[in-house]
Amino acid sequence: MSKVIAIANQKGGVGKTTTAINLAASLAALEKSVLVVDADPQANSTSGLGINPKEVENSIYECMVDGVDAKSAIVETELNYLSLLPSHIDLVGAEVDLVDLENREKKMKKALRSVRKDYDFVLIDCSPSLGLITINALTAADSVIIPVQCEYFALEGLGKLLNTIKIIQTRLNTALEIEGILLTMYDVRLRLSNLVVEDVMNHFKSMVFDTLIPRNIKISESPSFGLPVIAHDVDSKGAVSYLNLAKEILEKN
Ligand code: ADP
Ligand code: MG
Repeated sequence: MSKVIAIANQKGGVGKTTTAINLAASLAALEKSVLVVDADPQANSTSGLGINPKEVENSIYECMVDGVDAKSAIVETELNYLSLLPSHIDLVGAEVDLVDLENREKKMKKALRSVRKDYDFVLIDCSPSLGLITINALTAADSVIIPVQCEYFALEGLGKLLNTIKIIQTRLNTALEIEGILLTMYDVRLRLSNLVVEDVMNHFKSMVFDTLIPRNIKISESPSFGLPVIAHDVDSKGAVSYLNLAKEILEKN
C-alpha cells in the first residue's frame, strides 16, 4: 500500500526540503520506491535531486492547473527507486490560478491519484506558507511530518500549523494523521539545542520521532552536488540519522 506524506511547516529554513530529499533517498536505499513531489516554487528539492528547474518541462503546476497527467511530468533521478515530480518558478502563480477553480483544494490529490499506487511512498515537500498549495498538499496526504529546527523560536507558528491541520482534518481530509514532529539541526554541544528538545518533548512528547537529525556539514553541502547526503557521504552522521528516520517510519507503517 502506498503512503503519501506531506512535509510541512510554514516557517522557512527548518529542514523541510532537506528531510524530503534525504528521507526519500533513505527509503529508496531500503528498496522502497519513492516519489518526491516538489510543491515549492523555489524548487529546492528539484535542484537538490540533480534536476535543473529551468529545464523542467511539466511540473506539479501543470498537473494541478492544466490537468497534465502526472506520469508524463515525473522524471527519474540518479538514484534507483527515487523519482521526482518537479517544480518550477511558475508554481508561484498557482496560488492565484487555483483560486477560481472548483475543488481548488483537491487539485494535488487528483493529480496524484493515478500515480500514487506506483510508489511505496510519496513525499510532498511544501513551501514555507500555509497558502493554497500547502492546503492542497495536506489534503492529498495520508500524514504529515513537521520538521522543527532546534533553534530560537522553534515552537513559533507550530500552534497555527497544528490548528490548520485540525481544520483540514474536519473539512477536507478526515484521514489526515500526524506522522511525527522531527527535530532537526540538533547540536548536542549547544545548551539552546538541548533546551528546545526538552521544550518540544514537554509539549508534544507522543508526537516526536525518536530519531534526532543532527546539524551536519555533509547534509548542508550535498545539495550543491545535486545529491542526497547518503549518496554524498554514506558514513556521515547526517546520512545515518536520515536512514534511522526511514527505519523508524517503516516500523510504524
Ligand atoms: P526548508 O525547506 O524548511 O526551508 P531546508 O531544508 O532548505 O529548509 O534547510 C535550510 C538550510 O539549512 C539549508 O541550507 C540546509 O542545507 C540547511 N540544513 C538543513 N538541515 C540541516 C542539518 N541537519 N545540518 C546542517 N544543515 C542543515
Ligand atoms: Mg524548502
